[in-house]
Amino acid sequence: MDDIRDCIVVGGGAAGLSAALVLGRARRSTLVIDAGAPSNAPAHGIGGLLGNDGRPPADFYAAGRRELAAYPSVALRAGEVVAGARAGDRITLTLSDGDRVTARRVVLATGMDYVPPTLPGVAERWGRTVFHCPFCHGWEVRDRPLAVLDRGASGVHRALLLRMWSDDVTLLADGPAGLDDGEAASLRAAGVPVDERPVAGLEGPGATLTSVRMADGTARPCGGLLVPVTLRQRSPLAAQLGAVAAAPGFVATDAVAVDAMARTTAPGVFAAGDLTTQMPSVASAVAAGSLAAAMVVQAIVAEGLPATTAPAEGGP
Ligand SMILES: Cc1cc2nc3c(=O)[nH]c(=O)nc-3n(C[C@H](O)[C@H](O)[C@H](O)COP(=O)(O)OP(=O)(O)OC[C@H]3O[C@@H](n4cnc5c(N)ncnc54)[C@H](O)[C@@H]3O)c2cc1C
Repeated sequence: MDDIRDCIVVGGGAAGLSAALVLGRARRSTLVIDAGAPSNAPAHGIGGLLGNDGRPPADFYAAGRRELAAYPSVALRAGEVVAGARAGDRITLTLSDGDRVTARRVVLATGMDYVPPTLPGVAERWGRTVFHCPFCHGWEVRDRPLAVLDRGASGVHRALLLRMWSDDVTLLADGPAGLDDGEAASLRAAGVPVDERPVAGLEGPGATLTSVRMADGTARPCGGLLVPVTLRQRSPLAAQLGAVAAAPGFVATDAVAVDAMARTTAPGVFAAGDLTTQMPSVASAVAAGSLAAAMVVQAIVAEGLPATTAPAEGGP
């Protein structure tokens, strides 16, 4: 029996589950392979997702998986894809357990690794009182004394942005701030002081942040810290399949290049979500996954490939 799927979705986070939903509703045989580590797992809730604002991430993903159960052509598999290769119009993916799966189309939805600064106290507060995105977490820390750990032009940008959530924002440069006269004037006008003393760590019970400990021993009251973050591909899978990276951007160093139809530069390989973007969010990932899936279906129709029959109730 031919077990070539119409599409394999690699990654079952917001983008991957959204893609699978659209593929399932289009009756395309679809396998979702997911390693189960969405980037926002540590967060208290999803900020800014219409209909799900503040919902705990695990709850949101569980609801997405439940919705997929209504579509018999979609199967979910826990696992990690460790390699990919193409032969003609078929793409074969190898899982960490050695198993191989094949499809004519792949949607990469593997997310990105978020790399925050290495500072004692960041890890246990990540996605709660220490965050990279004020649109996601600013509301929860509004009106507290807040700080930005950054310097130079990006530090100025982040500090001015964070002022939307509090009148009390400090730029912690952890060394020379590297500001030109115009940048320093912008901060002064916004009432943002600059502290160039070295930063030693963060303090407060559990995921709560109460103060930033400076290297000179003093504590600066702080209820939320915005930090710069770098996004990097989690694996070389996209490159193995021939998808080239876009130019490095403000946030992501090696985002996969996609066109307006979610196509990468590799035939049959589509991509959606964090791995393609400089503006990551759950809402964007859901939208991108939906678009990629629709484009997969359009591509199947346009290229006249033999459509695999949607399997009977019970899954592929
Ligand atoms: C701490 C934190 C908090 C955030 N808070 C918010 C928020 O409040 N609001 C908001 O809109 N955005 C928030 N974001 C951003 C948001 O989480 C992402 O933009 C969004 O989750 C991206 O979805 P995705 O599907 O592209 O990737 P992910 O959600 O990261 O999902 C990718 C999935 O693919 C799997 N995977 C990766 N590689 C493989 C592989 N080789 N084989 C199989 N599976 C694989 C992963 O395990 C994971 O399950 C936050 C991000 C972080 C880091």
